[in-house]
Amino acid sequence: MLTGKGRLVLYVSFVLFCAFANVSKTHANENPNILILNSYSRDFSWTDDQTMGFIQTFKQTNIDATYFIEYLDWKNHPNEENLFEQQELLQIKYGTKKLDLIYTTDDAALKFVMEHRRELFQNVPVVFSGVYGTAALALIAGESNVTGVYEKMDTLGTLQMMRTFNPKLKTIYLLGDDTESGLESSRLIEKDICDANPDLSIKYFYGKNNDTINHELQQLPDNSAVLMASYSRDAEETTMEPERYVKMFSSNSRVPVYVLYDFEMGSGTVGGSVLSGKSQGIQAGQLGLKILAGEKASAVAPINIPRNVIMLDYQALKRYGISLDKVPADSQVINHPWSFYDEYWQGIWMTISAFFMMIVYILLLMRNIKQRKSAENVLKKSNEELTALYEEVYASEDTLHKQYQELSATQCALQKSQERYQLSFDGANDGLWDWDIITDKLYLSDRCDTILARKMEKICSSRDFLRKIVLPEDQKKMIDALRDHLSGKSAYYACEYRLNVSKELKWILIRGKAFINGKGHPTRMAGSLTDITLRKASEASIHYLAYYDSLTGLANRTALHEQLQTILAGGSDQSEGGALLFIDVDNFKVVNDTLGHSYGDALLIEIAKQLRNLCGTSQFIARMGGDEFVVLFKQLQTQREVCDYVKTLKDFFSTSVIIEEKKTHVTCSIGITFFPSDGVTADTLLQNADLAMYKAKSNGKNQYAFFDEKLAEHVQKQAHMERHLREALSKGELELWYQPQICLSSHSISGFEALVRWHSKEYGWMMPLEFIGFAEKSGFIIPMGQFILRQACLFIKKLYDEGYGELTVTVNISVVQLLENDFVESVQTILAETGVNARYIGFEITESILMESLDLNVHKLEALRKLGITIYLDDFGTGYSSLKYLQDLPIDVVKIDKSFVDNLKREQVGKTLTEVIIELAHLLDIKTVAEGVETEEQLEILRRYYCEAVQGYLFSRPVPEGKVRELLESGRLF
Ligand code: C2E
Ligand code: CA
Ligand code: CA
Repeated sequence: MLTGKGRLVLYVSFVLFCAFANVSKTHANENPNILILNSYSRDFSWTDDQTMGFIQTFKQTNIDATYFIEYLDWKNHPNEENLFEQQELLQIKYGTKKLDLIYTTDDAALKFVMEHRRELFQNVPVVFSGVYGTAALALIAGESNVTGVYEKMDTLGTLQMMRTFNPKLKTIYLLGDDTESGLESSRLIEKDICDANPDLSIKYFYGKNNDTINHELQQLPDNSAVLMASYSRDAEETTMEPERYVKMFSSNSRVPVYVLYDFEMGSGTVGGSVLSGKSQGIQAGQLGLKILAGEKASAVAPINIPRNVIMLDYQALKRYGISLDKVPADSQVINHPWSFYDEYWQGIWMTISAFFMMIVYILLLMRNIKQRKSAENVLKKSNEELTALYEEVYASEDTLHKQYQELSATQCALQKSQERYQLSFDGANDGLWDWDIITDKLYLSDRCDTILARKMEKICSSRDFLRKIVLPEDQKKMIDALRDHLSGKSAYYACEYRLNVSKELKWILIRGKAFINGKGHPTRMAGSLTDITLRKASEASIHYLAYYDSLTGLANRTALHEQLQTILAGGSDQSEGGALLFIDVDNFKVVNDTLGHSYGDALLIEIAKQLRNLCGTSQFIARMGGDEFVVLFKQLQTQREVCDYVKTLKDFFSTSVIIEEKKTHVTCSIGITFFPSDGVTADTLLQNADLAMYKAKSNGKNQYAFFDEKLAEHVQKQAHMERHLREALSKGELELWYQPQICLSSHSISGFEALVRWHSKEYGWMMPLEFIGFAEKSGFIIPMGQFILRQACLFIKKLYDEGYGELTVTVNISVVQLLENDFVESVQTILAETGVNARYIGFEITESILMESLDLNVHKLEALRKLGITIYLDDFGTGYSSLKYLQDLPIDVVKIDKSFVDNLKREQVGKTLTEVIIELAHLLDIKTVAEGVETEEQLEILRRYYCEAVQGYLFSRPVPEGKVRELLESGRLF
């Protein structure tokens, strides 16, 4: 059982629970469902604006409501069927849905909700708007849980504006239809007008169709205005949206059309103090919020204060000629012509100010740049100045440095030259002199005494000096030199003179320079004296060495050359010409070899002496070297002079010369050339004389010959010949002739010497002496020599094969051949090729050749001997070898030269050179062959000397191969 106190507690708990439940219910539901009901059809702006305002209010809170918007379309279908259908539809839609609030936007919607709220909407709280106060009160009479915003037109505000715009206003044409809201709104307006402005009359258009109304509107008087009440249907029940009607009427009206709702703006009406659907919606939303916050709808007081705004249409104002000045200050003017400025003035100003700022900034920047540039220029200029200054400083430092260096160098040089001067002064070997020309006082230094080899007065006159010191012969040249210098012809005074001392010759060099005064006169002169005796002596000996032959004391080749050149240079001035004699001692080598070099030298001295004796002053004698002498005839009157000279010379040579008690018989060959007829240069003349001498030699020695054009031609011819010789071999123009060698013990032919002949188409028969030299020079001798050897081998092989017994053939070998590296090999090849036995082959080698490179040749000769070849030393006695070499040479036979044989005479007393040679050869086990045997006498002597073999014209000249057999066949014994 519960006590009273217990009941009280239970009651309080229940109340608290209920309160809590209520609070939690209202506050817990933050997602309410709200039904918005309109009686118009969709897209009616009055209704839509209210809905928008209502939802906007909610959206500004954190309530996330769900809105169900419904349209009853009552204005278009104001009949019961429509309502019934709507009722059924909403029953289906919301019969079971839990709604939290219903919002209605007009009278018809409120009426519908009030009538059906119980069965359709479980009596949810209702908020309304868009309903006039009286109508609303009638509709909600007896209903609870409902509140709202009363719609209230501001007729008076609009009226006041109408009167302001048109002070003459008398009549107001009220345009309202005969619908509930049309009639109601008209009634309310009329009441407001009549109450406040009884002077104004009000007229209506009831019962008229649209055309009539439009027509009448066009006729309205000036003192009238049209005011729109609610209008959506004409007398013929043509229904349109109120906006369309407003638009139509305002376009036809002659006078301004005023409105009371904002949705009627923009359709050509002037405007008015208008009620805004949206503000109605917002106010209703605020009421709804309170209800959802938990307040009872009945407890929430309805709002009766409209939020009206003065709105005017710019275009309409203009159309009716209403001045904008009359427009109240707080009004909104719509339809203002679009102005870019108006629309974007903020942007424009912002842009302008930004642009201006930018300009200012750019200007500042430019100013800054300019300032910086000028500063930079200043800086650059000062930098350049600084650089220039630096360079200047650097350059001047450089110059200074250079100057300093130059200065130090000069200082150094100065010091050195000072030292040098001191040294030279101290160590000077020269005497110094100083001559005052004006007073003729000559000052001489101490050193002069020594140089001049006498004690001189320190001061004397120039005349004294000349008289006492200088050799009289030299005085003139000294004075001449002095004159030349003083007259300015020579820059320095210099003269070499001899001292006037009796005992020895002393040479002095005097040098000096005059001082010329301002008037150009020499006033003073100073210089030195140098003892040049030694230098003069050495110069003389050098000169002697250069120009004289030390052995004979005769001029040498150089001296002759110069002398000749000097004479020839005088050339045309001299009427007389001259002659050149080239003298060569015959067989001088043999003298040298047999009697010794000192004997040879003595012989040359003797010859020189004799030449000198024979010569007068107009002849110049020179020794050219060896046994060659030249006599130059300077001023030749007739050629006879030369011939006489030659004769005397020959006479001298014909007598035996006795030297060191030894008697020698010498001969010489002389070549003679005349100038200028034979030549005008020293070289040509010497060459000519030489040629002529060779001609004399080849004529058989001990003769003289003149140079003539033929000789020169001969030289030219030889050059020409040389060219043809090259082709001789291939043309088959070369052949071998054979000269028999006779064995003196058997008196029969023991062999042949092969001698080459050139049968030239151009020149006819050519003798070896005419072409061998060229062949050697050109190297043609190599193939030619091989040809000759091959032919000789074939020849002897043939004879052997033909049964002529043990015959030999000797072949002349040139130096050029012997010097060939592969000479021995090439001989071997030919021997092998021809199949001849080497013991039938002999090589004749001129002794001079052998001596040229003895070691090499000796080596080769030994190799040849090993092959079985017999080595003959040809022309023995004409070359350079001495008899004593014979024992060292690998030779088998000596061929005694014809020149020796020529000298063999019966009446000769004592041993001849030939006899000595043969004896010596026999001692060395060397056989001898004498060549050029032409007389029985020679043969007889040779036989007596036990010469082994002979060869010469006495027996046979060289014969062509074809004649050899004839010789052999004749069986002749010698
Ligand atoms: P050589 O070797 O002294 O030859 C001897 C020369 O004397 C030959 O002249 C020969 O005809 C000549 N002769 C011989 N007996 C007498 C005589 O009783 N009286 C005179 N007056 N002369 C005589 P050749 O043939 O004119 O030869 C001259 C030189 O040419 C030779 O001198 C030799 O050195 C050289 N020679 C000749 N044939 C050849 C050759 O085939 N090869 C080489 N390399 N040289 C050759
Ligand atoms: Ca020979
Ligand atoms: Ca010979």
